[in-house]
Amino acid sequence: MKLYNSLSRSIETFEPINPECVTLYTCGPTVYNFAHIGNLRTYIHEDILEKSLTALGFPVKRVMNITDVGHLESDADDGEDKMLKGALRENKTVWQIAEQYTEAFFEDCKRLNIQKPGIVAKATDQIEDYIAFIQTLETKGFTYFVNGNVYFDISKFPEYTKLSKMNLDDLKIAHREGVEQDTFKKNPQDFVLWFTKSKFDNQAMKWDSPWGIGYPGWHIECSVIALKFLGEQIDIHCGGVDHILVHHTNEIAQTESYTGKSWVNYWWHAEFLQDNTGKMSKSKGEFLTVSLLASKGYNPLAYRYYVLNSHYRKQLAFSYDNLDMAVTAYDKLKKRCLAYKQSDLSPLTEVASGYQNKFLGALADDLNTANAITVLYDVLKSTDATASDKLQLILSFDRVLSLDLLKDAAVVIDADLTEQVEKLIAQRTEAKSGKDFAKADALREAIKSLGVTIKDTPQGTTWSHE
Ligand code: AMP
Ligand code: ZN
Repeated sequence: MKLYNSLSRSIETFEPINPECVTLYTCGPTVYNFAHIGNLRTYIHEDILEKSLTALGFPVKRVMNITDVGHLESDADDGEDKMLKGALRENKTVWQIAEQYTEAFFEDCKRLNIQKPGIVAKATDQIEDYIAFIQTLETKGFTYFVNGNVYFDISKFPEYTKLSKMNLDDLKIAHREGVEQDTFKKNPQDFVLWFTKSKFDNQAMKWDSPWGIGYPGWHIECSVIALKFLGEQIDIHCGGVDHILVHHTNEIAQTESYTGKSWVNYWWHAEFLQDNTGKMSKSKGEFLTVSLLASKGYNPLAYRYYVLNSHYRKQLAFSYDNLDMAVTAYDKLKKRCLAYKQSDLSPLTEVASGYQNKFLGALADDLNTANAITVLYDVLKSTDATASDKLQLILSFDRVLSLDLLKDAAVVIDADLTEQVEKLIAQRTEAKSGKDFAKADALREAIKSLGVTIKDTPQGTTWSHE
């Protein structure tokens, strides 16, 4: 598999630390408001990354944090507290806001067929771990304490700009944009590990610590959660491109200072969804959500289709005209797929294996989802592939694309499935007793492609849905 690595600024062959368990960390949402469809574009592509790795034979252990504390308006720790802003806006406690928008986030993910990561960790559940982590950094001499806050001193980490590839003067400008500066910092890029001197008297989320009652900085949560659940070195770390300059740069500085080792092998970044004013952003007030699209009659999966037709490293301009075109194309595609839903199944032909390889090849090519979708259209058009091939390929491709291409027929398929699977199992049993093992293996594959797992027991073959 080839993936673009933001650290080397080049496409690299993916070589996991342990191919049996690829470690994947994803920066999660800051839960002070709904996710907008730009945020969700990034999560859709991350979902494709996880599912592509799995389809290519790399089982994935994935972790995502939920930022429910510590994220100030500027990523460089200045400005208002985002959670508090949400609480004031809705006259609720920060805890209520966190719960409400975490739930809303996963609800949106569900509507977009974004799989929930295996491990989801709330920032507020790891306080003891942050404290221990900061104490180690303190002992190693990477921190200083001033005006009630513990800061990371970036001058102690010479590789600070290795991800951004910017010089510190340029970074200074990037940090300054529109936000009031913290004059207590030794270097403008230093960042807070633990706040006690919050300028928000009504800060509700606070905990006791060796430095006084306070709360953790935002960057620290991702480092600590990744270390805790995935170990000291990980394969892939994901996020939007906006995180390169500050958040991920700070994560690297503190984690590598803590472990003394290089941390992430592949930095993966998704580009922005743009609206007519530029980057879609929550701070602009009005922003597009999945619920808003749904209330206008748009199927969230048509938005997923729209997103998958562009590459994750390219900006995508959102317009209703483009979305309307995606809806038409998606509906037509689905109709064409559904035409095969009742096809009789037989083992995949060689032609079908060719398409399967092409599809996986497109994903292995730095997640070229648009080309993967083109392979699906090629399958539908094909005069060589049988109806059974087509049905199995649609099912198999849709495990990655997750566009519910056969969903309208769910009930019919379920009813059919039992009959089809049992027919295939009977054929396989017959092939096995005739010692035609190649045929038996092909039939096993055909059954697997229906999303069914079979088990050979002394009493015969049993099966279940995956
Ligand atoms: P947040 O909830 O603001 O921390 O952002 C969640 C994720 O969405 C992060 O990975 C961001 O980098 C990403 N993101 C923010 N704005 C956009 C956008 N306009 N388009 C795509 N991704 C975005
Ligand atoms: Zn993060």
